[in-house]
Formats: sequence, C-alpha cells, structure tokens
Amino acid sequence: MTDLRFDGRVAIVTGAGHGLGRSHALELAARGAKVVVNDLGGRVDGSAEGGADGGEPPAAAVAAEITAKGGWAVSDTSDVSTEDGAESLVDAAMDRYGRVDVVVNNAGILRDRSFKNISVGEWDAVIGVHLRGAFLVSRAAFGHLREHGYGRIVNTTSPTGLFGNFGQSNLAAATMGVVGLTKSLAIEGASYDVAVNVIAPLAYTRMTEDLLPAESAADLAPKHVTPVVVWLAHEDCPSTGEIYSVGGGRVARVFVAEGPG
Ligand code: ADP
Repeated sequence: MTDLRFDGRVAIVTGAGHGLGRSHALELAARGAKVVVNDLGGRVDGSAEGGADGGEPPAAAVAAEITAKGGWAVSDTSDVSTEDGAESLVDAAMDRYGRVDVVVNNAGILRDRSFKNISVGEWDAVIGVHLRGAFLVSRAAFGHLREHGYGRIVNTTSPTGLFGNFGQSNLAAATMGVVGLTKSLAIEGASYDVAVNVIAPLAYTRMTEDLLPAESAADLAPKHVTPVVVWLAHEDCPSTGEIYSVGGGRVARVFVAEGPG
C-alpha cells in the first residue's frame, strides 16, 4: 500500500468537502495525484453552507489544504445530479490538468423517511445524487478514462446498498442501482482497462453521525475506508465489477459482543 503512487494521474472526487470524500482526496493527492475536489457545498439537510456568509466553500477548503501541503488540487462546486454540473466538473479536470484517470463518485445525501410517509421529492433527491450523479459523472468522464489504457471508477454505496434499511428505501434503490451501473460499466470498460468497482462503506461522517453511536467515531473514521479506494483507483489493481464492504470491523465486533453464549 505505502508504495502506491499516482504521479501524473488526475483524480476527480465528488462530495469531497467533508468526510469520506475529503479523506480520499487528501490521500490521493498525498500520493501524487492532481485532484479535482468537488462538493456543491450544501449540507446534508439541504441548507446552504459556505460562500454566502463569507465562509469558504468546503471544496475550496479541502483544495487549499492539499496545496498547502505541496500537492495539486483544484476545487469545483458543481451539482453532480445535473447533466450540466457533471459535464462542467469533468471539463474543469480537462481544462486544468488535461486528462482524467480516476473518478471517485462519493457525493451523497440522506432523506430518510418511513415508506408510509416518503414523498416523491425525498425519493427523487436521493436517486438524483447517488444514482443519477454516478451515471452522469461516469458518462462525462468515460471517454477520457478510455484514452490512456488505464481508468478507474470507484462508486460509493453503503450497507443499505447491500441489505436495505428501515426508512432508507430511496437510498437502497439508488445504491443497488449503482451496483447495476457498476457491473455493466465494468463490462463495457474491460477492453480499455477501465475498471469500475463499488465500495459499501460504513463510516462515521456528517451523513451518518445521527444514526451511529458516538463511540463508533474512531473505529468508523473515513481514514479506514480510504486505503480500499486508493487500491481500487490504482493501475495495479485488477479488480472490476466487484463490491467491497468496508465496515471498519465494527459490525463484526458488535456481533461478537452481543451474540449468544
Ligand atoms: P460521506 O463522507 O459519508 O460521503 P458527507 O456528508 O461527509 O458524507 O459527504 C457527502 C458530501 O456530498 C457532502 O459534503 C455534500 O455536500 C456532498 N454532496 C451532496 N450532494 C451533492 C451534489 N449533488 N453534488 C456534489 N456534492 C454533493
């Protein structure tokens, strides 16, 4: 792991203003990648954050963090759930760095609601960011990823994308859709060495902090998920069309602690 380098490579990481995406962006940059740090800057609850009140948008803060350490980064505030946003994100990578090698689709939102009460808006919003966003950014980047005989897409789902969950029918449908997208794109990309995989991480982030016990924050820190992304993004990794469940060991420990005697 320690010797995996990305010098000369260009990576797009969506939803990288916080949590998992930020961790992936920092690590890829530390390993030599030029990183396009995308985040539309909205909060998980949909309210605005950054910019308007004079505060820095989170994508810009992460890009500044990278460049302060001597790395390469540019920020982007496109909304990946829109066709124009996805295209302008990939255009930003091409304009600034001239190529795209890695796409990490990490942008996400939650609109949890019991199935009895879920609105069409709550359904569409989650499908829009997770499934439509992964589709749109992958489609915009796919031609560029095929150009150099090496391209990697890492799509992000969640345990809900494996098992379903109460109050998350929208997220389950979106993330299981991402699995279908991934497997089909893996087949279409195979002859160009464009590899496409899914991670299903359980991490303690702004998105999940209300759902997980606070004492799980260390075990479920984003930094435990990032090495899997680094490996899947690297040209030496032969995996494609696979699903990686990354849970920080937390789930197994809970089962051991609470199982029958
Ligand atoms: P996690 O680390 O689990 O992905 P976070 O809430 O920390 O959870 O990060 C998700 C990020 O995705 C947030 O920073 C959010 O602003 C970003 N995001 C949500 N929707 C979009 C979108 N449509 N386009 C770009 N970024 C988005």
